[in-house]
Amino acid sequence: MKMWELTDAINRQKAKNPVYLKGLIYTCPECRRVVVYEKGYCPHCGQKLDWKGGAKHEV
Ligand SMILES: [Zn+2]
Repeated sequence: MKMWELTDAINRQKAKNPVYLKGLIYTCPECRRVVVYEKGYCPHCGQKLDWKGGAKHEV
């Protein structure tokens, strides 16, 4: 395993706030793909998601 891969894996252990898009649609802060509301992890990249802190609103 290369160092950047290791760092990447560690970063994904840390929960991040999902990014609000519109309606009930949220996107992953890591891969920017759509995630299901209140799902614990991004199904695409495995990023842990923190819904408690609320979603970031980005334009
Ligand atoms: Zn993702």
